[in-house]
Amino acid sequence: MDVSPISRLPFSTMFLRRLLVGLGLAALFAWLALRQPPGTDPRLVEREFLAMGTIISASLYLDPGQPRDAGEAALRDLEDFLRAYEARWSAWGTGALGQLNQALARGETVTIPPALQPLFSRAAALSAASGGRFDVRIGRLVELWGFHDETRFRSEPPTADAVAAAVHALQAAPPLDAAAHSYGPARAVWLDFGAIAKGDATDLAIERLRSAGFAHAIVNLGGNLRVAGRRGDRPWRIGVRHPRVDAQHRVLASLETSGDEAVVTSGDYERYFEFEGRRYHHLLDPHSGYPATGLQAVTVVAADGALADAASTALFVAGPLAWRETARALGIDQAFVVEADGRIVVTAALARRIRFADDSMPQTVP
Ligand code: ADP
Ligand code: MG
Repeated sequence: MDVSPISRLPFSTMFLRRLLVGLGLAALFAWLALRQPPGTDPRLVEREFLAMGTIISASLYLDPGQPRDAGEAALRDLEDFLRAYEARWSAWGTGALGQLNQALARGETVTIPPALQPLFSRAAALSAASGGRFDVRIGRLVELWGFHDETRFRSEPPTADAVAAAVHALQAAPPLDAAAHSYGPARAVWLDFGAIAKGDATDLAIERLRSAGFAHAIVNLGGNLRVAGRRGDRPWRIGVRHPRVDAQHRVLASLETSGDEAVVTSGDYERYFEFEGRRYHHLLDPHSGYPATGLQAVTVVAADGALADAASTALFVAGPLAWRETARALGIDQAFVVEADGRIVVTAALARRIRFADDSMPQTVP
């Protein structure tokens, strides 16, 4: 089966991921090699690297006559660009957002640097539209659960009192304002753009490649996928991995992209720990303070990556009863969810173009 970059990597814990990284990503490369022997298509240029806490893969499809060297150079430049982006947006790092968070923690009102302003405004608007299900002010809660540190996870959940206190502080803090150029004081807020930055980065990546003369590309930042143009005489084809069946990297659905669009998956299998038989994952409901329940995964197709990224998180938090309405509020009409029991529900607009594995039996909703 020809499935281009799968939108989720087959790692359920950081430990496993690190192990695989230690093994030179053997599992991933082996699998990628299976779908197409390297070098069989001289117009396809690919690059994979680790950044932004995940594995990034980028591919270009050269126009006839475009030199391969130039494509390779463009992908090297893209890697540098994404590393700089990561430094800027890392919530717990020393770059622009990290510094801003430290100033908030000191009780200061902060001026939003121009480089951060567009995504701040975007996040503020999407947070409001999602009914607060997507909320970048969530950093303290993420930290309480230990999901901010990629090197180790907690082995048990925080106490109910600690969760309640963090939720209370979050709800009492000032909201982000899409039109504002400053924020604070908000001592209790630690800003975390983890649920939108990867999608935004794919948008910027595609823009950057396009202005370097490459109109046909696919960029996958650990489940945040953005495509542009075509793969020669046919569309880019992408696959969504099943949220539970790891072993064979089972493909749950495949999609032929149409021009310029983003496909993003959020799931409870990317970062989690287990305690007393329960799974605690990294997609937190800002209203309860606990990992959202009811869904295993959400996949969203939208015109741009930042929207699809924030929306996939918001829909996941909304859960089985509210995801459809939350999608509508965000202007998303193509999405599917995998419910806790494995049932798949897909919107009619996506059902028309996506192909599910034969045994999936999805239900369609308007
Ligand atoms: P991933 O980063 O695994 O692709 P998401 O895009 O859904 O998944 O982003 C999840 C990350 O966003 C978490 O690791 C956390 O840092 C942050 N986050 C968790 N819950 C929320 C939420 N409700 N709103 C905004 N950000 C969140
Ligand atoms: Mg997201």
